[in-house]
Amino acid sequence: MRGRELIETLKMRALPEGGDDYVALVEFLRLYRDAVQLVVNKIWNLDKVPSIKVLHKMFYGELRRYGLRAHHVKQVYTYAKTIVKASKQNGGRKPVLRKLTARIDRYDYRIDLENRTLILKLHGDREVKLRLLTSSKRVKKFRGWDNYEITVKAIKDKIYVSIYFRRSVKPRKTRTVMAVDINFDNITLAVFTLSRVMIRLKRFETSLRRILTHRIWIEGIQKRYSKSWRFIRGVRRAIERHGEKIRNIEWDYAHKIGDRIAELADEHKSTIVLEDLNKLKNNVKKNKTFNKKLSLWFYRRMQFTIVYEVLERGLEIRYVNPRKTSSTCPRCGGKLKNNDGRVLKCSKCGFTGDRDVVACINLFYKYARCGVPGVALKAPKGYANPRLMQGKRDEAMKSTDIKLYQS
Ligand SMILES: [Zn+2]
Repeated sequence: MRGRELIETLKMRALPEGGDDYVALVEFLRLYRDAVQLVVNKIWNLDKVPSIKVLHKMFYGELRRYGLRAHHVKQVYTYAKTIVKASKQNGGRKPVLRKLTARIDRYDYRIDLENRTLILKLHGDREVKLRLLTSSKRVKKFRGWDNYEITVKAIKDKIYVSIYFRRSVKPRKTRTVMAVDINFDNITLAVFTLSRVMIRLKRFETSLRRILTHRIWIEGIQKRYSKSWRFIRGVRRAIERHGEKIRNIEWDYAHKIGDRIAELADEHKSTIVLEDLNKLKNNVKKNKTFNKKLSLWFYRRMQFTIVYEVLERGLEIRYVNPRKTSSTCPRCGGKLKNNDGRVLKCSKCGFTGDRDVVACINLFYKYARCGVPGVALKAPKGYANPRLMQGKRDEAMKSTDIKLYQS
């Protein structure tokens, strides 16, 4: 197994030490922007966007004469190439840069995280010192991380810095498999040993119902005011307020639950099995209802957080096609029918089970069938009934009461 790289950005305001430093920095940002524009202008009408090697030949000497350092120049033509390519791919016009933003690579800055200072090397070999306005708590996380690039921005008269950190994570040996089923009302997870015993089951209610009430309100208003809502201040503000509430609920929830799921995975040393949302998307496209679209957006956000938290702990993620995972009998492979609310029943073998738990079992089977080393596959096609949960039921299950295997 190869190591994995995590990347994270720390954004903050920065204060130049002196007035001279501020002036020099803004002058540098202008020079940088104009240099990028110069490269854009010269390559825009070429038949083909030149390679980095050709760009180097074309622009190195010229840009160095403006006083830019060697690595500034490299960043300038690389950035110009990126935006020209992006604009051409979208059939757009020649990019015209207005913002004062510069990407600076690690040869041209020094960061002291302990003292929260940044020294930047500008054109003409001038150096400026900036104080990073961030808390020691935020910075603490990045001890032991490597930083490889920063961006510096001037917006009005304020300076902002983003630092890009990376860290490699050592992969760990996993001992169990955790299947996670996300649906509109619940997130359910089940942990299986490699010998197919379900050892943990947990369910979290989602925040989608709460989000939905805000979404419905917004949609209703937008419909009522048709295209004019944007131009009525009070209406626009109210919509923004509801949007803000949605973002807060969503953010809090994704963070809290994503973290708890990753902690459980950590505790059980699990490989995480998630639904492949690209496969799910095709189903949703056919089914254009509001709830489905909302769910897909929520699933993505949820998966994103889970994946991040899990990777950070050196665990593995696997994706399986979610097709029929909540309609196939885990015991005989027959078709399950709705019996009573969320309980499904197999018409062939009589198996009954909670819809979400069934989905988890099937996700686990789908993963196990793809030839996972260590997973015993005795039953044909992988359909077998996992033994009943051992030990006491998870404390969270008491309130939601999942009825398991009551055939
Ligand atoms: Zn069955």
